[in-house]
Amino acid sequence: MNYEYRCPKCHGYIRIGEHIILSAKNKDLPGGLILLHPEPGNYAVIRHSTFNYEKGDLVEFFCPICHHNLDSKKHMNLAMLIMTDESGKDYDIYFSKVAGEYSTLKMIGEHMEIFGEHSGEYLDFFSLSQNY
Ligand SMILES: [Zn+2]
Repeated sequence: MNYEYRCPKCHGYIRIGEHIILSAKNKDLPGGLILLHPEPGNYAVIRHSTFNYEKGDLVEFFCPICHHNLDSKKHMNLAMLIMTDESGKDYDIYFSKVAGEYSTLKMIGEHMEIFGEHSGEYLDFFSLSQNY
């Protein structure tokens, strides 16, 4: 599972080892760094104990390199990253910004894979032939 993850804006590499490194912010300043698991559907999160949020909070994610806001254009609750597989194919990865909501969508062209128990809530915002 040697996927690379990149920022959609600066294309910088944001996976190091077994972590996707993002800058994040909730309604309480100043936010912090957050480490996500690179396997879609694995919602393990590592963050500093001083960076707190409650279940249901909307967390904003930013590229740690260029500070681009990773909001997707599909839905205000989804953030977006680029994932590149071993053969060099790029996928769009959408994941929920809502704390405690398990929703990840992986797309290439018209093909979509979904992960997480809450992913169904966002399918209506993607007009395509679904494959899952
Ligand atoms: Zn960037």
